[in-house]
Formats: sequence, C-alpha cells, structure tokens
Amino acid sequence: MAKNKIQFQKGYSITDLFKEYGTEKQCEDALFKWRWPDKFCCSKCGSDSYCSLKTRRLYQCNHCHHQTSLTAGTIFEKTKLPLTAWFLGIHLLTQSKTGLSALELKRQLGVSYNTAWLMKHKVMQVMKERDDSKPLKGIIQLDDAYWGGERHGGKRGRGSADKTPFVAAVEVSEDGRPLKMNMTVVHGFRKTAISEWASHHLSDGSLVVSDGLACFSAVKEAGCAHQSIVTGGGVACITLTEFTWVNTMIGNIKNAITGTYHSINHQHLPRYLAEFCYRFNRRFQLEDMLPRFIYVALKTPPMPGKMVSMAEPYG
Ligand SMILES: [Zn+2]
Repeated sequence: MAKNKIQFQKGYSITDLFKEYGTEKQCEDALFKWRWPDKFCCSKCGSDSYCSLKTRRLYQCNHCHHQTSLTAGTIFEKTKLPLTAWFLGIHLLTQSKTGLSALELKRQLGVSYNTAWLMKHKVMQVMKERDDSKPLKGIIQLDDAYWGGERHGGKRGRGSADKTPFVAAVEVSEDGRPLKMNMTVVHGFRKTAISEWASHHLSDGSLVVSDGLACFSAVKEAGCAHQSIVTGGGVACITLTEFTWVNTMIGNIKNAITGTYHSINHQHLPRYLAEFCYRFNRRFQLEDMLPRFIYVALKTPPMPGKMVSMAEPYG
C-alpha cells in the first residue's frame, strides 16, 4: 500500500543529522561541495586556485584576490546564524509531515522568534521557487479554492471578498493515484489568470480535468487538452471518483495550515501552500531531503526585503 511505503521508508533521523552535519566545519564542507561540485571557481576571474580565510565562510582567489563568501548570493546570504542551526532547521522543516510553526522552530533551535520566522519563510521560499520550476504533466485534476473568510459569517462560495483565491492542481496516474500537486494564489478565476498560471505550472500536452467553471478552458491556451466534468449532468466521460483527489488535497492543506499556524497573513499564503506541496511532492524521498534542499537553496537568490515584511504573531 502506498501509505505504508511512505510511513515505513528509511528516512533520515536527527542522529544521522548530528553525525553528518553536527559541526560548523562539516556544514561548511558540505556547502562548499554542493556549491562547487567539481572545483572552486572564482566568480570574478574563473580561477580554481583559492585559499580559505580565517574569517568564517570566506574564500580568496589566489589569482585576482577576489573574496567569495560561501553563502553570498544564496538564500543564506548575510545570515548570522551558525550553519548547524540552519541544517537542523531545514531538517525539521522538510521532515515534518504537517508543517512546523515559527514558534515551534524558535523553541527547537533556541533562537529568537524573528530569527525563526525569517528562517521558515526563507525555507518556504526555496520550496516555492523549486516547485515553480517543475511544471505538472500528464493528467491533471484542477479546481478552484479559497483561503479564509469562513469564520466571519460572510458570503460563502466563489467570489467572496475576504477570501484569497488559489488554484489547486493534482497530477494523477492513469489509475487515478495522486502523484504531485501545485497550489498557487491567483488574482481571480478569470481566463487570463488561468492561462497565465497554466503556462507556468503545466507542461503542454497535459490533459486537464476540471469542473464546469468557465475559466478553466483557458488551459488550452497553454497547450493542454481540457475536459470538464459537468456535475449532475449525464455527459461526463470521466467519473467523479477520479476527480476526488484535488478536493481531498484542498481539505488536507486547509487542515494542516489551520492546525499548525492558527492564523496566517494572506500575503504569505503562496509560501504556505508551496511548503505543503513541496513536502507532498517529495514524500517518497525523505532520506535525501536535506542535501537536495540545500543544493537548491544555494542556487536560490536572497529574498528581497519586501517579501520578508514584519513577522506574524503566530506564523
Ligand atoms: Zn579570481
């Protein structure tokens, strides 16, 4: 059963983590290896001859004397935290099944709330950029979803003013099992928004199955075939049972976000959605989650200040 395959995979324990990345030196060596897999390369002149300076994480080119920090230009840029704290934080955030709040991360790492919040959002940003670069393909179940608004007794359903709309897409196998998913905040459910979303997140040639909401036919503009299920109608070629995964995933993600974070700022929703999808998409790869993540983090540019506005009270 797929469930057991996930639950009983080998995984990566905290003991493994401390053995491999328990010291600053081990973490620096690992970053160096992932940043320059073949050999060191000076970003200014391309020389591979260097010496490491006593200042932490700094390397000087023997040819042009340009100094390169191990973390410059990456998501870790300018961090004052020890790398061991980063490695532990990334381990906890990638291995957790339902998500880990900044408050919990603060407790586990023994850092300030703001530091934990920043780390969490940088990690989520890496997850988002990584999955944004990997479009779904094949058979895709697509649905519209909304975050928020439920508790205020306002208008329910599509188009309520205090809800943030997002697209939920699940790539399924031929026999209807979920493989990967993507959840992306959109401006609204109009054809232009769906066409734009599809061109970034779906491979052309995919088959998109959705309900009858008119905007979804815009996936055809991104080179996908489209089949809509008319609920209650008798013309559907695809049975409704094959369409349930996307609804299940929307329910799961809402429960996970509400359960872990209590409340989140709508402006950060794209990253919370991406975090959930990232872990789901790698649920069979727990063992090498950490090196895979950090390899990508080293290629992810620092987060612009505007994306990291003030920390939230409970995020
Ligand atoms: Zn140089």
